Amino acid sequence: MVDDSSLLDLVRDKSSDQKSEYLAGGTALMSSLFEYGNGKRFLDIANYVPSGISTKDGGVEIGAMATFSSIISSSLVPDAVRKASSFMASSTLRNMATIGGNVALMRDDSFLVPVLSAMGAKAHVLSENGDEWMSIPEYSKVRGDLLILSFFIPSGNADVAISRRSSHMHSVLNVAFGKDGIAAAVKGTGLVFPGEKAVFSSDMSGSKEYKEYLFKTLSEELLENVKNEN
Ligand SMILES: Cc1cc2nc3c(=O)[nH]c(=O)nc-3n(C[C@H](O)[C@H](O)[C@H](O)COP(=O)(O)OP(=O)(O)OC[C@H]3O[C@@H](n4cnc5c(N)ncnc54)[C@H](O)[C@@H]3O)c2cc1C
Repeated sequence: MVDDSSLLDLVRDKSSDQKSEYLAGGTALMSSLFEYGNGKRFLDIANYVPSGISTKDGGVEIGAMATFSSIISSSLVPDAVRKASSFMASSTLRNMATIGGNVALMRDDSFLVPVLSAMGAKAHVLSENGDEWMSIPEYSKVRGDLLILSFFIPSGNADVAISRRSSHMHSVLNVAFGKDGIAAAVKGTGLVFPGEKAVFSSDMSGSKEYKEYLFKTLSEELLENVKNEN
């Protein structure tokens, strides 16, 4: 149970003011400042939300304020999650961007949502009613003012792959395979959680047929890699 009054104050503050945003690494918020930052109030969560990485119940717990760089350099974090974190091409972004911010955004080119979903990770979240653990697909449906405190990743084989036209471009497809199945981020159509059917559409990142082909070949490759890990 979370009884830290500073954390609860943050959640209440956010719920009472719809123009407020939790500020973590600031990479997404700051880059969109000119678009929608006008009138926004930022609630700095850096001093309240954990950033540590530790082993727990046969898996690993990662504080929501852990940066991509700290995840990549931690030997406690499963290889697939470290690999997915290294897909963020800029070292400046990797040093600032947090796992909590990445999951909260639920972007259609998310680096971490597919791998966390495929591995059956859970998010520890806090609302005005208290704290609870939920799966990543569950969190995606209820996000709102929830403050993510940490993630628990159970152990298990997994692998991830990304497809993009050049190293610094947004990904067309980001696919992961783990104990819960296949998950993906598909540019233009959104996130695909384990057990869901992938939907593709044509846009400037590629045709529907191109994305279907990538999804099929990358999924087959990942299945083979994970099978060979055993
Ligand atoms: C040039 C550029 C390219 C990018 N490319 C990609 C990309 O290809 N794929 C991708 O996935 N991302 C990309 N990003 C987006 C972003 O940098 C990352 O997703 C990053 O992980 C966001 O984390 P942050 O800590 O900087 O979040 P912030 O910018 O601080 O916050 C982002 C959002 O998350 C919310 N939030 C943050 N922490 C929490 C928390 N603990 N609980 C609840 N809500 C929270 C905030 O309220 C805010 O709405 C890119 C950003 C830039 C600037």
